[in-house]
Amino acid sequence: MKLLLVGLALAATLAVLSACSGESSGKSKGNGTATEAKREPVAEKDPVEKKGPVATTEPVAEKDPVAKNDPVPKKEPVAEKEGSSPAAAALPKTLAEWKAKLTKEQYDVLRLKGTERAFTGAHWNNHDAGIYRCAGCDETVFNSTDKFDSGTGWPSFTRPAKDGVIASEEDQSHGMVRSEVHCARCGGHMGHVFTDGPKPTGLRYCINSVSLKFEKSQKE
Ligand SMILES: [Zn+2]
Repeated sequence: MKLLLVGLALAATLAVLSACSGESSGKSKGNGTATEAKREPVAEKDPVEKKGPVATTEPVAEKDPVAKNDPVPKKEPVAEKEGSSPAAAALPKTLAEWKAKLTKEQYDVLRLKGTERAFTGAHWNNHDAGIYRCAGCDETVFNSTDKFDSGTGWPSFTRPAKDGVIASEEDQSHGMVRSEVHCARCGGHMGHVFTDGPKPTGLRYCINSVSLKFEKSQKE
């Protein structure tokens, strides 16, 4: 019997404990839900905080005036380029700038690699002593002392005025493989070089007159 009583007492105690724990757990759950409910608005604040960046887009709109200021300082470096280095500014950089600087005939040959018709140019039959400059950039590219009568109708030279002033690259246009030659300084197309020239080089620089500007020697 004592065991039963003890057992009942334990059961009663457990019931009370369980009831207490149940209440306490219920309260904790209530607090928990209350906390969660509080957290939800907190979570709702996140979007509000995300709206913060949206608000920062307004400062972006404020940056527009700053962006409007950007072109102003951008114009200044352009002015600096034009003023500080006139030598570099002398060479056009775009086709539009070249087009503005050159005549149509010069532009077609120098920049578009065209070819003038034979016997139509200004220099094919010129026998005066002097130097031939690039019509695009004034670089001295050929000397009259290296000029010879090739019979082609284009001014022809056995060599450039100096090493490095004329550059070449392979040209496979018009079904032929030729060596295109151009001004090393400005890239202006001059003509082509062939290996059937006279001594001493055996080369024939076949050049468009329109790519050249002749400067007569003042000594003679
Ligand atoms: Zn040039």
